[in-house]
Amino acid sequence: MTVQSATSIAGGFIGAIGHTPLIRLRRASEATGCEILGKAEFMNPGGSVKDRAALAIIEDAEARGLLTPGRSGTIVEGTAGNTGIGLTLVANARGYRSIIVMPETQSQEKKDFLRMIGADLRLVPAKPYRDPGNYVHVSRRIAEECGGYWANQFDNLANREGHRRTTGPEICAQTGGRIDAFTCACGTGGTLAGVALALKERNPATRIVLADPEGSALHSWIKTGEITSSGSSISEGIGQGRVTANLEGAPIDDAVRIPDTEMLGQVYDLMIHEGLSVGGSAGINVAAAIRVAREMGPGHTIVTILCDGASRYQSKLFNPEFLRGKGLPVPPWLG
Ligand code: PMP
Repeated sequence: MTVQSATSIAGGFIGAIGHTPLIRLRRASEATGCEILGKAEFMNPGGSVKDRAALAIIEDAEARGLLTPGRSGTIVEGTAGNTGIGLTLVANARGYRSIIVMPETQSQEKKDFLRMIGADLRLVPAKPYRDPGNYVHVSRRIAEECGGYWANQFDNLANREGHRRTTGPEICAQTGGRIDAFTCACGTGGTLAGVALALKERNPATRIVLADPEGSALHSWIKTGEITSSGSSISEGIGQGRVTANLEGAPIDDAVRIPDTEMLGQVYDLMIHEGLSVGGSAGINVAAAIRVAREMGPGHTIVTILCDGASRYQSKLFNPEFLRGKGLPVPPWLG
């Protein structure tokens, strides 16, 4: 066994964000004859890829004089949970408060975590974006009312810029620039667009493929230019019904749609056969990478994102009752 020596000291929570490992996914690679590599974003200190966006958004606000460290400003955001966790932890480290608005349908684990770390959590019924009661609009109104800073992750370009500056260049450095394709799901589009921009800057031939769950309208947007959706998914934090500012102009070549059964197959497979404990969006990303690998043929290098960890979804993806209720298969060791 070789142990990599740590060579530097991180400056607190914020200094520990990013520089995540790029992990070879053995079974996906062996099954396709490609190198399928997962960027281990679940290893960020707040547990997800959204730590990067949270930091980029807060640093941008500070640079523009909208927040001042230590002056107990308030950050307000609507989120499926992970951005709220990242924002609250950065806020704690910088001396701000946070108000987090979240649809009540999201996992209990993320709600409990947010309360544990001191967020002022406001749960709202899940409503479509066109409804004024949608969590994004509620968060904007709360920010206006309390004079807080609205992070606006969907349309704040600091989000994708953070990934263009960090996640993308890290992937290039870790692969020596040898990347044939990149697959990524989309919530705000920050990760997909930011990494896509960085990879295409380096090599315009890199194929960028959106990994979409059922029920999202982006697959049809990429394939036909039309925004339409059908079906639904138990995945959280991904799937989108509109083209966010972060997605606009992103260099996306193609899209694949991944059903929940295929997503769960990857989540369980990675856990039981490789010891990698990841959430549903990571399962969708890996399933998409395998599909792209099969389409491109052996010998290619495909990178994807392992967005967060399985423990955030224990009560859903690993709960036989929940799975049966959704008509989904229960893995044998839980059955
Ligand atoms: N996976 C998970 C688990 C998430 O919480 C999110 C963010 N909502 C994403 C993927 C998508 O990331 P992005 O917002 O950068 O598109």
